[in-house]
Amino acid sequence: MTYQVLSRKYRPKKLKELIGQEVFVRSFSNALKNDRIPHAFLFTGVRGVGKTTAARIVSMALNCINLQEGEPCGGCTHCKQIIDSRHMDVLEIDAASKSGVDNIRQIIDNTYYSTSQGKYKVFIIDEVHMLSNSAFNALLKTLEEPPAHVKFILATTDIQKVPITIKSRCQIFTLQKVSAKLMTRANADTPNMAAMQNTPRAQSDHCLKRLPLPSQRYGQRGG
Ligand SMILES: [Zn+2]
Repeated sequence: MTYQVLSRKYRPKKLKELIGQEVFVRSFSNALKNDRIPHAFLFTGVRGVGKTTAARIVSMALNCINLQEGEPCGGCTHCKQIIDSRHMDVLEIDAASKSGVDNIRQIIDNTYYSTSQGKYKVFIIDEVHMLSNSAFNALLKTLEEPPAHVKFILATTDIQKVPITIKSRCQIFTLQKVSAKLMTRANADTPNMAAMQNTPRAQSDHCLKRLPLPSQRYGQRGG
């Protein structure tokens, strides 16, 4: 099996599998339960910590038609398509290559259309700190008050470069890097992992899969 296939197979698909990210998981689970979901999230953390994975799980939880105790089922059409990155309403944008104001205007135009199939249209903007100043400015109004069926999930490895005007419009979560000790324990009872453990990316993807331990350091919310 190739690394890509393995990484997809073992990538976390449930909130409880986001090891070490208890602050985010608890907050989002409560928001989901109370139907008070923020319209914009900002995930920050080092490369490989699981920001995109968390964004996909949020997208699944928002669109899953068979939530099970607050977790996406992983088996419905929406969950499956999001896992395979082919859901029409969950759009991933890489701001490193699409950093201009025109790229953001396309997104804004898109928000006015209703969803194709899901409940929510989710825009995941990765490496959001790479956007140009004019692109950030164009995004402000929509980020503050998007249509009811739209959610934004921004992700960045460099939150210092994200303007305060953007940060103030998002609920911010710092995803934590998981310790080697915890990673070793998490890996211990998982079969077929040897092939995945040779790269930092693989380790990070995998270490998010197992349940957290009480001693794990929590992430922090805030601006
Ligand atoms: Zn589902």
